[in-house]
Amino acid sequence: MAGMYIHIPFCKKACHYCNFHFSTSRQQMPEMVNAILEEAALQQSYLSEKVETLYFGGGTPSLLTTYEVRNTINRLRELFVVNGNAEITLEANPDDITEEQLVGWREAGINRLSIGIQSFFEEDLQWMNRAHTAPQALQCIELAQKHGFTNITIDLIYGSPSLTDEKWKQNVETALSLAIPHISCYALTVEPKTALAKMIATQQSADVDADKQARQFSLLTQWMAAAGFEHYEISNFAKPGFRSRHNSSYWQGKSYLGLGPSAHSFNGNSRQWNIANNALYLKILEAGIIPFEMEYLTDTQKLNEYVMTGLRTLEGISLKKMAAEWGDEKVTRITNAASKHIDQGHLMWTDDVLQLTATGKFLADGIAADLFEG
Ligand code: SF4
Repeated sequence: MAGMYIHIPFCKKACHYCNFHFSTSRQQMPEMVNAILEEAALQQSYLSEKVETLYFGGGTPSLLTTYEVRNTINRLRELFVVNGNAEITLEANPDDITEEQLVGWREAGINRLSIGIQSFFEEDLQWMNRAHTAPQALQCIELAQKHGFTNITIDLIYGSPSLTDEKWKQNVETALSLAIPHISCYALTVEPKTALAKMIATQQSADVDADKQARQFSLLTQWMAAAGFEHYEISNFAKPGFRSRHNSSYWQGKSYLGLGPSAHSFNGNSRQWNIANNALYLKILEAGIIPFEMEYLTDTQKLNEYVMTGLRTLEGISLKKMAAEWGDEKVTRITNAASKHIDQGHLMWTDDVLQLTATGKFLADGIAADLFEG
């Protein structure tokens, strides 16, 4: 089983907090779609497994025409062995979701929508510089459901300076009232060189408050559990049967091919990443060369990745698996490093599996770093 990620590096507006690779100049979009398909042809032998998931991310893939989406899927099906029941996700922003787009996406084979809602409050959306309005955030979900999309996920952001606990509760309640089976929630992070980082540095915005973020995360986990959602990864909640197959394959260490500027690929032994520059990506591909850099993963890097992703997921990290792949010595070292966090109530054992506790979940990255092999 393998996955495929297609990066569409264009957006209408730059959200203040975003550090993904995208351009707000959309002139090169048609050229980019062709280049991505050329890259796919050059990478035809990268994956030896059947493709189980396709994921259009970005950027904003909902800016593509429905013809471009359909043509891309058809071409990828020609070039690769794509399972008949593959999960095919498209990230969409609320302001791009129209009846015409929805019909076209379904005809093209999109069977899962990931909608960037972030908040149902107008003042939050404006503060983030999102392109959509609060009424659009609500209407787009209802419209997608009316057009037969049942597998929908939405993104929400918590811990922003303007988000009180009461507003956070209302955002989650609104999401739950819409009968969607998957919700991803992210703590607002201040990435270097973003507009948000500048706003905070020049005191145009308050800084993020780590205690508030931890509290809103804790409230979230309680609300989602009460609503019957499985907390299967730190930022992801799903009703039974609705986990993201694509993202789960990343966390299970499966192979994936990333297409487009800045996209990453992984084949079990090496990782590679395309140049994060639209003009250079187009120019170099024109010469029939894929502009990427690559690194081979050492055993230690593979172990650390397993620890990091394992801890972030409900599955935890299995000592049996670690002993079989990396040897007993590593298991002993990790078990010793874990004991402090177990005493503090942030990690726990379930048979041979080490997992984060409810309080440990917000501290996942720091705890994983403590367990890393140096
Ligand atoms: S729409 Fe998404 S990718 Fe584009 S700027 Fe906003 S958060 Fe970033």
